[in-house]
Amino acid sequence: MRFFKEVSMKRAVVWVLAVLFTCMMEYPACGRPTVRVVTTLPIFADLVRQVGGELVEVVALAPSAFDPHTIEPRPSDVWKVKKADIFVHAGLDLEPWRSPLLDAAGNPRLFPGQPGELDLSQGVRLLEVPDRPVSRLEGDIHLFGNPHYWLDPHNVRTMVQAIAEKLAAYDPDHASNYRQNLNAFLNRLQHKIPQWQEKLRPYQGHKLIGYHNEWIYLMEFAGLKMETFLEPKPGIPPGPKHLAFVEDYAKRHGVRLIVQAAYNPKQAAQAMAKRIGLKVVVLCQNVGDLPEASDYFALMDYNVDRLVLAL
Ligand SMILES: [Zn+2]
Repeated sequence: MRFFKEVSMKRAVVWVLAVLFTCMMEYPACGRPTVRVVTTLPIFADLVRQVGGELVEVVALAPSAFDPHTIEPRPSDVWKVKKADIFVHAGLDLEPWRSPLLDAAGNPRLFPGQPGELDLSQGVRLLEVPDRPVSRLEGDIHLFGNPHYWLDPHNVRTMVQAIAEKLAAYDPDHASNYRQNLNAFLNRLQHKIPQWQEKLRPYQGHKLIGYHNEWIYLMEFAGLKMETFLEPKPGIPPGPKHLAFVEDYAKRHGVRLIVQAAYNPKQAAQAMAKRIGLKVVVLCQNVGDLPEASDYFALMDYNVDRLVLAL
């Protein structure tokens, strides 16, 4: 009797292990995810997560609340890129650290133009694309148009579609899952866009000052205006002459707000705010810049509500 019990116990264990193994091989959602995705920024990782769900494993290289222009990738980042199936980035010249990182990782699938690469700037509506060749010698760090394009929700629509297509091309067995998640995201976005715009309607045409030129997509979406920045040129810290110019602009145009990202230096904005009675508002560029910005929708909710409150 005892012998039979032991045999059936062993059989049960073997059976359970076999089921688990088959499950992991056939249905990656109950084992290892199917697609390994590395993104440059946390905002892109969030979008990939929302489209890929449990079928993807996604990591962002840049930490939240860090300046995306100046991240220094670590050896562990090189390893992540080496192991990735898909590499998602902003394109243009937002991440000057991107090419050296790809070279160091040496994963040919992810090189520009290869199947594992996804440049999210493709197909989005870009602002401030220069109508003549520009050189970095003139002090500009963004030579191909303003690369901070994801705070316009209409651009995000294009970006999540590109993400869903890329995931489906790599993992066609789950194409319908990606399409379903994409549609859910797009429906939610469709519902939120008029809500965000309605909240901001009373402040149309208000003029704001920014630190770095990274809010114009949000401003355009919100019907607000931002044409003057504490940085005299993108990437150049403000000096006294430029600050005097900005202060004069603020007084002449009745500006009430200076907008900063979590990673911008605070001193210049705070000193000016104190001198001429402005408010400094920290908004989020990336998911996780502040705890409130837990995903794209929460980030936009936060930015819109914060602007409304301050205006
Ligand atoms: Zn920038």
